[in-house]
Amino acid sequence: MAEKLKRVAIIGGGYAGLAAAVELARQGVPVTLFEAGKTLGGRARGISYRGIAMDNGQHILLGAYRETLRLMALVGVKQEDAMLRLPLALRIPGHFTLKPPALPAPLHLIAGLLLAQGLPLGERLAAIRFALALRLKDFRLAQDMSVASLLTHYRQGGKIGSLLWEPLCLAALNTPMRQASAQVFLNVLRDSFGRARSDSDVVLPRTDLTSLFPLVASEFIRQHGGQVVCGCRIRRIGQVNGYFALGREEGEENFSHVVCAAAPQHALTLLAGLPEAAPAINLLRRFDYQPIATIYLQYPRETRLSAPMLGLTGGFAQWVFDRGCTHGTPGLLAVVISAAGEHQDWPAEQLAGKVNLELRQALALPPPLWHKVIVERRASFACTVGLERPAQSTGLKNFYLAGDYTAGDYPATIEGAVRSGMTAAALISARITH
Ligand SMILES: Cc1cc2nc3c(=O)[nH]c(=O)nc-3n(C[C@H](O)[C@H](O)[C@H](O)COP(=O)(O)OP(=O)(O)OC[C@H]3O[C@@H](n4cnc5c(N)ncnc54)[C@H](O)[C@@H]3O)c2cc1C
Repeated sequence: MAEKLKRVAIIGGGYAGLAAAVELARQGVPVTLFEAGKTLGGRARGISYRGIAMDNGQHILLGAYRETLRLMALVGVKQEDAMLRLPLALRIPGHFTLKPPALPAPLHLIAGLLLAQGLPLGERLAAIRFALALRLKDFRLAQDMSVASLLTHYRQGGKIGSLLWEPLCLAALNTPMRQASAQVFLNVLRDSFGRARSDSDVVLPRTDLTSLFPLVASEFIRQHGGQVVCGCRIRRIGQVNGYFALGREEGEENFSHVVCAAAPQHALTLLAGLPEAAPAINLLRRFDYQPIATIYLQYPRETRLSAPMLGLTGGFAQWVFDRGCTHGTPGLLAVVISAAGEHQDWPAEQLAGKVNLELRQALALPPPLWHKVIVERRASFACTVGLERPAQSTGLKNFYLAGDYTAGDYPATIEGAVRSGMTAAALISARITH
């Protein structure tokens, strides 16, 4: 017999929680989304500094983010205005260029590797053999190993290791190659390079990350009868007469179904009062985390990069983005440093100074006018070899997890978060309607 339709609570207004709420609201299920912060978006949110719209961290999306792009279209994001979509081109000025030509996948990658600038011919041919071998194996490993071991096995060290694979691994998994899961890395390569050429497109937001999707999504949820409540932290979850009692600063509210879409460390706290969720709790206790630093540097307005996004090598800075080109803030560059390193504990002044020096050496820039450093210490879970991640279904009936860290193919990414939210929504709607 169909369960009686009741009320669904979603805890967390990041991309996962919003995806779940949009999908349920679309189906006419009454949802209430609680977000602890004043701003929606979680780890992908806009901030304002000196009156300029920035983000807690520079993000890129890929053409392979099919669920994210589909959901954005569903809620009404005008993608041509909101994002700059470019065919893949990886450039590290003075060192390396990979610019796959306009051929169908995976030929574009093969030709791109063959024509890559900055690598000896032997390495380019070895990279093509590597790409073909992965495809033959359908990007599956019999047993997970570290990205570093995988690359050693396929003779992908040398320049290609440091100029292509390491930057890609850090950007995709936010985990150093020695610890990073080769299987998850291959999942990302499979989805980006193994299907359609447009999957490897780089998609750069043109607006801040809260305006990009969360605000449009919350409007969609409201228009479909749902509620979005910001500045409301859920402090505890109890069970009363078959309902979940969500405790806030003041009072409690009962819900028949819950999607806990908080980040893993916060989910761990929320699950503490639910003994049936012990299996998920045990997995979450084993999680480790990695930081991401974004260093914004404001240069004179006429400062421009030769492309919206460039790679850097040999120092701390890994990527630099021209926000003048994407966000209409001329001269503002955003430098990204993924994963842990000695830089993460430096004072902002020191980190900005070091990054500025590296940029000036690599790109001959003038001195910056000001800077803003944001270090997200728990930017993502460490995507390590063989990491077991909790499923969206918990041992507890009608209680689900959603978030970039739950079981799935992807590392901690917007696409991973969105897919997880969609899965949680599908599990609930299946219970409600069947
Ligand atoms: C600096 C940085 C750069 C990144 N770069 C990229 C990138 O380029 N590409 C990419 O795809 N991904 C990137 N990521 C990863 C991406 O941002 C995350 O994977 C994604 O945003 C996670 O979404 P989520 O909904 O799972 O979790 P979160 O975004 O963490 O959302 C959880 C939400 O729950 C709320 N919450 C927690 N506890 C409670 C509570 N008790 N009550 C109510 N609300 C609560 C939080 O405030 C938060 O808003 C980056 C992350 C960071 C930090």
